Amino acid sequence: MQRFFIPGTSFTVGQVVELPAETLRHLRTVLRLSAGAECELLDGSGLIAQAQILEDYQVRILSVAKAPPPKCSLSLIQGLPKGEKLELVLQKGTELGVNRFLPTQMARSVGRLKPEREQKRSKRWEKIIQEAARQSGQPYLPQLQIMQSFESALTAVDADLKLLLWEESAQPLDQLLPDKCPQQIAVIVGPEGGITAEEAQKAELAGYLPVSLGPRILRTETAGLAIMTILQYLYGDLAKGRCSENAAFQGKDES
Ligand code: SAH
Repeated sequence: MQRFFIPGTSFTVGQVVELPAETLRHLRTVLRLSAGAECELLDGSGLIAQAQILEDYQVRILSVAKAPPPKCSLSLIQGLPKGEKLELVLQKGTELGVNRFLPTQMARSVGRLKPEREQKRSKRWEKIIQEAARQSGQPYLPQLQIMQSFESALTAVDADLKLLLWEESAQPLDQLLPDKCPQQIAVIVGPEGGITAEEAQKAELAGYLPVSLGPRILRTETAGLAIMTILQYLYGDLAKGRCSENAAFQGKDES
């Protein structure tokens, strides 16, 4: 079934909803859906409405359900990379269930955040996230928060597990991951040039644990996607991980 995001809308059964112009155009000219067809509307905060297209291309809500919130919320503080790499991270990260992206200006970022361009870029980035969430059926729209400084990113995120992916760390990942399921995890990934010792120190002071992803140096866009997949596997919903009701890892559930 085709789905569409209409963020900020609250759905009630029987309600007739007007679709945003862009959605309407997509529905009519690309998907060629006609009156009587059904589609799914998402509000971006977990509501999923089944709806039917009417003659005038408004839609009537048939039923509404609320998707359970993610068991483990994942935040990615991504050192601002060059050009299109961030777009890849936003798209693939959304598919993998990242809930919050904080692209952050870091000391070795080659790309620069320019306030005058920011609005346009953040609109584009939000669109990429929304499209990836639509395509992958993610009912909670990930948040995007652009951070002008590393220090502000460190204070913006609260989490019970904080990881600093640092290519200079010798600490293997498996020694740091708790058995008890974290509810909020934050991960810092450096830009192409890596993380400076000063940044690593600031992150450690803010409670981040430096961790290695093994002997290979991964590209910045690979590192975040790799760790998010691992965390989603262990603590999220990618598999019947430690936090599932029927925990595959006996004795390692939420208790
Ligand atoms: N320029 C650096 C590499 C930076 S890789 C160098 O050549 O040494 C970009 C970011 O990806 C790093 O800052 C880190 O956050 C993450 N990363 C890549 N490989 C990693 C590894 N093996 N362990 C931990 N983090 C890694």
